[in-house]
Amino acid sequence: MGIARYWREIPQRYNLIGTKCGSCGRVYFPPKAICPVCRRKSIGKMEEYKLKGTGTVETYTIIYTPPPHFEGEEPYAIALIKMDEGCYLMGEIVDCDFEDIHIGMKVEACFRRIEEDGTRGAIQYGYKFKKAE
Ligand SMILES: [Zn+2]
Repeated sequence: MGIARYWREIPQRYNLIGTKCGSCGRVYFPPKAICPVCRRKSIGKMEEYKLKGTGTVETYTIIYTPPPHFEGEEPYAIALIKMDEGCYLMGEIVDCDFEDIHIGMKVEACFRRIEEDGTRGAIQYGYKFKKAE
């Protein structure tokens, strides 16, 4: 099954599925169809890759003024996470006191309701991060 079709069937942000370059081994999320490092050599072969979901906090910020329609609790913490595979994800840190959040903290992905689409009643889920056990 090709990557494009796979994507349409399973939301990427729920499953943390990116792509891994079969040539250099770099992992991309969101997935890339072509490895930007290997493209000139034309040897990049991208394959689906499911991230382990674990990473380290590179930097973070506490948001005190959420955007309109944000239904979560406020304030909340947003962090840039360097995943163990080497790619970066932005995500909310949950289940953690702000004082405990620090650069270098090990985190793991968890899946939470993010928002509800009022017009269709569809609840959307996405990844967030919590302190790794
Ligand atoms: Zn590559």
